[in-house]
Amino acid sequence: MKSKKIIIVGQGVSGTLFSWFCAQHDLDFIVIDNTLANSPSKTAAGLINPVTGRRVVTVWMDDIILPFAEKTYKEIGTQLNIEAISKMDIVDFFPNPFMKESFLKKMNQQAPYISLAKDEQYLNEYFNYEFGTGIIEPAYIVNLQQLLPAWRQHLLHQNTFIEQAFNFNNLQVSNIGVQYENITADAVIFCDGVEGSENPYFNLLPFALNKGEAIIIEAPGLPAGHIYKKSMTLAPFGEPGIFWAGTNYIWEFDNDKPTEAFRRSTEQNLNSWLKVPYKIIDHKAAVRPATVERRPFVGLHPVYKNIGILNGMGTKGCSLAPYFAWQLVQHLTQQTPIEKEADINRHARILSRSQL
Ligand SMILES: Cc1cc2nc3c(=O)[nH]c(=O)nc-3n(C[C@H](O)[C@H](O)[C@H](O)COP(=O)(O)OP(=O)(O)OC[C@H]3O[C@@H](n4cnc5c(N)ncnc54)[C@H](O)[C@@H]3O)c2cc1C
Repeated sequence: MKSKKIIIVGQGVSGTLFSWFCAQHDLDFIVIDNTLANSPSKTAAGLINPVTGRRVVTVWMDDIILPFAEKTYKEIGTQLNIEAISKMDIVDFFPNPFMKESFLKKMNQQAPYISLAKDEQYLNEYFNYEFGTGIIEPAYIVNLQQLLPAWRQHLLHQNTFIEQAFNFNNLQVSNIGVQYENITADAVIFCDGVEGSENPYFNLLPFALNKGEAIIIEAPGLPAGHIYKKSMTLAPFGEPGIFWAGTNYIWEFDNDKPTEAFRRSTEQNLNSWLKVPYKIIDHKAAVRPATVERRPFVGLHPVYKNIGILNGMGTKGCSLAPYFAWQLVQHLTQQTPIEKEADINRHARILSRSQL
């Protein structure tokens, strides 16, 4: 017997993974999404990198989150008959001798995931570089370009997807459940990404939105199966010969549109880095739902117990969404605790001031 009915708002990577785990737990659910063309989930490279920054620091909860993400995307891919995730390495081109030195120092401290390329010259045919390369592995690319529409199609076939902008005026919340238009449910879970910062239940949370851009190029001469990194990241994107080149982090912006300045600087960088011909075929921009503490927002509202959130994925939606979507479903069905640093209850005092 189906136990709970849940309304899920948003089908970016968070809503996709949350609805996946609802289905796995045999929960009754409906997804409402307004199919925004430039959501961050549709703009992202889909990269899962086990280390971060130039100082190659291991990411938060790597030993739990990364294997969990790999296993989950593989299972979704099997069900949808797509390659949802690909394992590959990141070739890290040292921009100067100091970066090489600090990478070597990290390696000597037995830091995980990093090594040196056996033959430093092996990419000479394709790239201009002087200071050698490090290797980061395993890394992954989540094929969001296929995964999101394939999951949406699956939901449509199951009659569990509504294309619509969720209207807060039509939501009624009581102690026993929620009513949205003609849908009666036990809970609403908001996976509404950047819109979450204007969601009346969660707009007091410390979001730290930032905008990012990417250029999509056709470069059939570049070897597939690797992610390349120098002053930007070049990642395989959807189809053979297509690469994603990005990104930037803009903290002050008045719109979410691509900028001429980014296109120009990316083109300059590509011209000096690549030896193979390429053609620009698209330019994308979106706002990341990042948070001040760089930790996601997961759990049920401390006052409105039937309203929940899975958001604040920042720059790492692909790696964080699977594990925290699973934790939230476990929390709803078995009242198990949510990881402290991600649990929305750390902001209970702020959220208790929500005025509706
Ligand atoms: C340039 C760029 C590059 C990035 N690269 C990577 C990367 O390589 N790897 C990585 O892990 N992360 C990356 N990110 C970050 C990643 O995109 C985000 O962490 C992730 O997409 C957030 O997913 P989400 O589902 O929480 O939110 P979103 O993608 O914003 O999804 C929210 C969904 O909810 C819908 N929605 C919102 N409000 C409503 C409403 N009222 N009614 C109906 N529907 C609604 C939206 O249309 C959308 O479909 C990148 C981001 C950018 C901008």
